[in-house]
Amino acid sequence: MPMIDSFGRVIDYLRVSVTDRCNFRCVYCMPEEGAPIAPKEEILIYEEIVRLLRIGAELGVRKVRLTGGEPLVRRDIVTLVQQVAAIPGIEDLSLTTNGFLLPRYARELADAGLHRVNISLDTLRPERFRAIARRGNLEDVLAGIDAAREAGLTPLKINMVVMRGANDDEVVSFARLSLESPLDIRFIELMPINWSAGDEGMRDFFALSASNGAKPSGNITLYANDSLASFKQLFRQPAPGEQRGMLNAAQMRCMFISAAEIRHRIEEACGAMEPASVITNGPASSFRLPGAVGTISFISQITNDICERCNRMRITADGFLRPCLMADGEVDMRTPLRSGATDEEIRRLFLLTVRHKPREHRLEDGLAPTGRNMSQIGG
Ligand code: SAM
Ligand code: SF4
Repeated sequence: MPMIDSFGRVIDYLRVSVTDRCNFRCVYCMPEEGAPIAPKEEILIYEEIVRLLRIGAELGVRKVRLTGGEPLVRRDIVTLVQQVAAIPGIEDLSLTTNGFLLPRYARELADAGLHRVNISLDTLRPERFRAIARRGNLEDVLAGIDAAREAGLTPLKINMVVMRGANDDEVVSFARLSLESPLDIRFIELMPINWSAGDEGMRDFFALSASNGAKPSGNITLYANDSLASFKQLFRQPAPGEQRGMLNAAQMRCMFISAAEIRHRIEEACGAMEPASVITNGPASSFRLPGAVGTISFISQITNDICERCNRMRITADGFLRPCLMADGEVDMRTPLRSGATDEEIRRLFLLTVRHKPREHRLEDGLAPTGRNMSQIGG
């Protein structure tokens, strides 16, 4: 019995945040001192995650992605992968990671039944890496990419969040990585997750992004002065009531850059791209540079309406089922799990949540998620 929402979309994909903790502090995701983390007892234990996924699979879920926070910092993650891989019906099991711990875990994860990984990487410059991720180092992430490839965790996808003035001058270098390696290079539009509540500027943000990358006034040019100090200064301007040490709404608005503009820049430098199909891709649109082995994809959830093809729901690390990334509504699964709910009762909660999946995000109406950071939702 598949899960079908009120708009006829089949929901067959669950993204599970296995922890809200992370060993990085990416400027667009977490404050430098870390986002507030849930007490340990509120985090789902493996048995609970596996039970939810088993029931999900009985309801037609075929794709599962483990994410976080950083999933590889959760103790015994390999055991969870083994247990999820054994659930009948799950055909595609993947994991999104910052890659830092992959040199240690790639082989074990593959042996445990993980099919593939997406690795987040926003820059190929070590100094800039420290400014954006603020922990870890580029060398280990690159070693992680190699380890994943050697372990057969493919097709391997690289996620780059593109920020005007911070790393957009690297989009062509990233695109060229697809020429000789069988990588899917994915350019992700900066998303307004956990902007300050009731942020009036959201309308401007949408107008800006909808205009397909017109340069905003107040453009921030950082790479002209690519020092750690200038990044730090920019990234640390907390407004009253805001989480400190993380991009604020105004900064994100200035730094937003549309997929269309990124594509234009790549084609200007490398030639026109042909459409390509990447079997495991959901809402991304994929292309190939002339003669390239790998592919290029755009995750344009802000400027393109990918909502109508949305096939997923999320389970937060603390056990809430979230039907839409861009809307704060969630259903508590942890309490029923811990108070003796039957499988049938859990199944009904899944179906109830699916019925309340919004048709599309409402950023243009000024409605953005404000309740949690991306690391807490499970990006
Ligand atoms: N820690 C893992 C990682 O970085 O791959 C998994 C969790 S992370 C939240 C998942 C993805 O969300 C990453 O590719 C990250 O770059 C992306 N992300 C986080 N905050 C974002 C934002 N505000 N806009 C766009 N992408 C974001
Ligand atoms: Fe951590 Fe991933 Fe968020 Fe970066 S994007 S802080 S690696 S959860």
